[in-house]
Amino acid sequence: MKEIHIIGGGLAGLSLGIFLRKRDIPVRLTEAANYPRHRVCGEFISGIEERQLKELGIDDQFGDAKLCYATAWYDEKGKFLQADLPHPAIGISRHLLDSRLAESFQQLGGQLESGTRAKVENEASEDRLQIVATGRARQKEGGWLGLKCHLSGFELESDLEMHMSDGGYLGLSSIEYGKVNACGLFKLNKELKVSRESAMEVYLESCGLGSLLKRIQRSDRDDDSCIAVNAFEFGVQPSPDSSRQFCIGDRFSVIGPFTGHGMTLALESSLISGKWIEKYAAGLLNRDQTISGASREMRETFRRRLLMSSALHPFLTTRTGRKFFAGMARSGFLPFRALLRMLR
Ligand SMILES: Cc1cc2nc3c(=O)[nH]c(=O)nc-3n(C[C@H](O)[C@H](O)[C@H](O)COP(=O)(O)OP(=O)(O)OC[C@H]3O[C@@H](n4cnc5c(N)ncnc54)[C@H](O)[C@@H]3O)c2cc1C
Repeated sequence: MKEIHIIGGGLAGLSLGIFLRKRDIPVRLTEAANYPRHRVCGEFISGIEERQLKELGIDDQFGDAKLCYATAWYDEKGKFLQADLPHPAIGISRHLLDSRLAESFQQLGGQLESGTRAKVENEASEDRLQIVATGRARQKEGGWLGLKCHLSGFELESDLEMHMSDGGYLGLSSIEYGKVNACGLFKLNKELKVSRESAMEVYLESCGLGSLLKRIQRSDRDDDSCIAVNAFEFGVQPSPDSSRQFCIGDRFSVIGPFTGHGMTLALESSLISGKWIEKYAAGLLNRDQTISGASREMRETFRRRLLMSSALHPFLTTRTGRKFFAGMARSGFLPFRALLRMLR
C-alpha cells in the first residue's frame, strides 16, 4: 500500500489520518505546532451526525463535551431571539479535542511529526499522495480578525449566546469542565492598538458591546487561551493548482463562523476524501482521478451551504442587514429553524 502524507494536524488532517489508519493504510502526518494548543474557533460543532463520527472512527472522543440545546441572540437593544436548536450541538475545546485525536492517531499506528512545518509540493508524482489540511489560506489583506479566549465562572443565559454589533459579533458557548469559550469575528481596525490578551476587550468596547464586556470581566480569563487570527477570507479557497493539490477542510473551503459548521465541513471533507483515498491506496484509482473525484464531490456536497452562508453573512455584519435580521426575529417572522436547516 502507498503511504499517504497529510500536512496539517487540525480537525481535518487528524480525522482523515484516523479514518485511514482504521483501514490499515500507512499515514504520515506533519503538524507545525505541538499539542495541546489553542485554535481560534467557536468550539461549537453543529450539524455533524453520529453515524459520520462513527464512520470516521472518532465517535468515542467527545466524552467530556457539553451538549448545547438552545441559543439566544442579542443586539444593542437586548435579546431579540431565543430558540431551541433542532439537534444538540457539541461544545468541546480544540485544546482537548485535537490532542485527543492526535493521541488516537498515534495509537492506531499513524506516524506523527509535530512541531514541524512541511513544504506543500506542487510536483505531481504517482507514487506520492500529499493531502493539504493546513487550514484557511493566508491572504495578503483579510478584512477580518478572529479572537478567542476561555472563561471560568461566566454565567451563560443560554447554551450559545450570540452578540451582534456594527463592528462584528461574539459567540459564547459551553465547553468541557464548566468552562465557556468566547470567540468572535470583528472587522479589522488597524488603528486599535492591542496585545494578545487585551484584543477582545478593546474590540468589544469599540463595537459598543461594553455591557457584555463587563459580564466577561466578572469571570476568570485563561490568558494562555487568548489568541487571534487574521488575513483570511471566506468561501472556496485559492489554490495554486487544484488538479495537483489535494486540499481538505478549511484549506478547501471556509464557511462563515456564525454557522458553527466549519468543523463539520472539515470532518465531512475527511470522510469524503478518505473513501477516495482508500481506492487510491488499493491501486484502483490513480492520483489525478483521486484528487479530481474527491474535490468534485466536496464542491457538490458543500455548494448549497457555502452559498447560504455567503448570502446570510451581510445580515449579521452590516448595520442594515443586522437591523433587518433582528427586526424580523422580534416580530416573529424570522424562519430561524428553516435557515439553520439550509446551512446544514
Ligand atoms: C472566529 C472563528 C470562529 C469559528 N467558530 C467555529 C464554530 O463555532 N464551529 C465550527 O464548526 N467552526 C468554527 N470555525 C471554523 C473552524 O475553526 C474551522 O473550520 C476548522 O478549524 C477547520 O479545521 P482544519 O483542520 O481544516 O484547519 P485548522 O484547524 O486550521 O488546522 C490546520 C492545521 O494545519 C497546521 N499547518 C498549517 N500549515 C502547516 C504546514 N506547512 N506544515 C504543517 N502543519 C501546518 C496548523 O498548525 C493547524 O494545526 C471558526 C473559525 C473562526 C475564524
